[in-house]
Amino acid sequence: MADDCLFCKIAAGEIPVDVVRETDQTVAFRDINPQAPTHVLVIPRTHHRDIGELSRDGALLTAVLQEAAAVAELEGLADYRVVFNTGEGAGQTVFHVHAHVLGGRAMTWPPG
Ligand code: 5GP
Ligand code: ZN
Repeated sequence: MADDCLFCKIAAGEIPVDVVRETDQTVAFRDINPQAPTHVLVIPRTHHRDIGELSRDGALLTAVLQEAAAVAELEGLADYRVVFNTGEGAGQTVFHVHAHVLGGRAMTWPPG
């Protein structure tokens, strides 16, 4: 576990969250500040700062993406968006990689 990492603590069960799905490698849980009717975060249990670091482990990267798709199916979403904010300038505030799965409302393009 990385020191003082919020999502490492969530993965370890030390901070309660509304879990949607869990595997031995990943946890999917509802965002505390939802930006859409469905807003679920998918994280690997192990600490990786961002999508760049996660991409060095292709199997784990695949597992995170498969869980994002599984969450969308479970939530009944045909239309949805998967987002990895990467870097402060792109809106990343928690530096433990996470996929946002957003759906249940119209999505604008391009994103802001
Ligand atoms: P980022 O801004 O890094 O792309 O996304 C971080 C997300 O984590 C935000 O959407 C924020 O609402 C969510 N978040 C931050 N702290 C917590 C928490 O303690 N519990 C849950 N469920 N979500 C959190
Ligand atoms: Zn972490």
